[in-house]
Amino acid sequence: MNNSIVQIITAYIGLGSNLASPVTQINSARHAIAAIDGVKELAFSSLYRSLPMGPQDQPDYVNAVMSVETSLPATDLLCCLQHIEHAQGRTRRGERWGARTLDLDILIYGTQLIESPELTVPHNGIAERSFVLYPLYEIAPHLIIPGKGNVADLIANCPLAGLKRLD
Ligand code: ATP
Ligand code: MG
Ligand code: MG
Repeated sequence: MNNSIVQIITAYIGLGSNLASPVTQINSARHAIAAIDGVKELAFSSLYRSLPMGPQDQPDYVNAVMSVETSLPATDLLCCLQHIEHAQGRTRRGERWGARTLDLDILIYGTQLIESPELTVPHNGIAERSFVLYPLYEIAPHLIIPGKGNVADLIANCPLAGLKRLD
């Protein structure tokens, strides 16, 4: 008999793309994430257009946020997300915040605070990035971000910074 108890966690994933048909990239990633064994989609935000962070000589981004229910440990979820990034042509050329076909970040993993060399959760910058907070608020307006506070309060102090919802 298997006595192990599988914990089901609600996690939030940030999606971003600014190369090779970003809208298609985001939609493909959504389906790939929902197809991971041990992951079930709960909600998916509208798509948003945002201005690039860091290097400015790159196209605008398309962003979205997805909530999922998962039985995977956070490190396994990260590994699956990196696999999807790679499958969709993500290459790392050493430039921070450079153009990419796909970026998948774990924004929140249940109520956990994680600080390891490969994973920081809640994601660094979650409380300051309009392209994360606005879509997050859209799908979870009452969410409390562990260690950061209420998403509604955070949004009140976060300028749009050029963020636009796509139709
Ligand atoms: P940022 O993390 O500021 O949004 P980025 O998404 O462009 O920048 P990446 O190049 O995608 O950064 O990832 C760099 C490293 O960040 C990854 O190798 C991964 O181990 C680490 N990392 C730490 N915390 C997280 C997280 N919550 N989600 C995804 N990756 C993370
Ligand atoms: Mg990122
Ligand atoms: Mg990333």
